[in-house]
Amino acid sequence: MATVGEVLRGEDVVAERDPWLGRRPLHLRLRFLQGESTGSYVTRLAARNLWPVEELLVRVGVGPMPVEPQYTEMYVSRYARERLANLSGCSVAELSLRLVSVRDEFLMPDGSSEDWEWPWDARAGYIVQACSLCAASRGTRSPAWLILPDPWHVCLRHGRWTDNSRSDQRPYIDLRDHPGVVRAQQRLNRVRKRLGQSAARWIEADALSVLTYVEYLEDPSCARDPEWALLAARVGEQRARPVAQFGMLSRLARDMAWMEERRRAGRLSAADSRDWLLRVARQRGSAFRRPLEHWISGHRPLRHARQASGSGAGSPGEMEVAGQEAAPLASLQDLTCLPWVRMPNEMDRLFL
Ligand SMILES: [Zn+2]
Repeated sequence: MATVGEVLRGEDVVAERDPWLGRRPLHLRLRFLQGESTGSYVTRLAARNLWPVEELLVRVGVGPMPVEPQYTEMYVSRYARERLANLSGCSVAELSLRLVSVRDEFLMPDGSSEDWEWPWDARAGYIVQACSLCAASRGTRSPAWLILPDPWHVCLRHGRWTDNSRSDQRPYIDLRDHPGVVRAQQRLNRVRKRLGQSAARWIEADALSVLTYVEYLEDPSCARDPEWALLAARVGEQRARPVAQFGMLSRLARDMAWMEERRRAGRLSAADSRDWLLRVARQRGSAFRRPLEHWISGHRPLRHARQASGSGAGSPGEMEVAGQEAAPLASLQDLTCLPWVRMPNEMDRLFL
């Protein structure tokens, strides 16, 4: 299948590996940005050394001409990963820790004739613009790009929401205008700390599914709260929707985490569930009652885990659940066990 690189730049392909190049670290190193995409890192590393990206790629192996990192993710062969680690002055293990998309599960198949590719779409995750102030603190002035399981990113340090919109005019949403969103991210962080990363992701996924069911702030341009109507007017309702939903997503996730924590500890009685449901429906709105009833009745964490890892059915016990990890780039859509799924922001496939 043709990749973006081939279509955009046709014949212009590096033909042979040069074993003499790329064995030593580059003169100038680069600090990693958390969650950065491989394409973004390679582009920054070249720029840091005052090279065009092609110049760096010659040292990494053979393959198509580069594509700008905001469009898609770059995937590499085992050979290219080693070379890239050399050039970066770190081990393959560290590189794989820092750049999710060079991990084993995303490597190009052994025996590929090329060492990197730029498919039409990232294989997993979303390309999201990095907070430019965080990037600047890593010595980068041009936009840097992250590969994340969610199509958005909240920088608590600089109070910025970035997403997968690639807008030049409005690269981020300033959270000084939306303090509730900052609190929401802090709330989610506390849930993650309490439950663990994977369990918290599953809970967030189910909370998002519940929001989809009740169509909570589905169209922020019609919101009664002027905060969201104004934001929708400014950045469009697609970009505004997840921002507007974020507060409720975090509160619901916290509510559901309360249940989950007790359930995992074997301390949940039928009466607890009933009281919980009444309390949450009273606080969040009666529309939430039905989907949450559904969640309680059908919620089997292990089923989530199995969906996320793509393996078959079974009925193992709770202890196994605790050990299950959500794939690092699995989206909330992939993780939920509830039937109502729609990401709040579907701006992707920019070429189509
Ligand atoms: Zn930042």
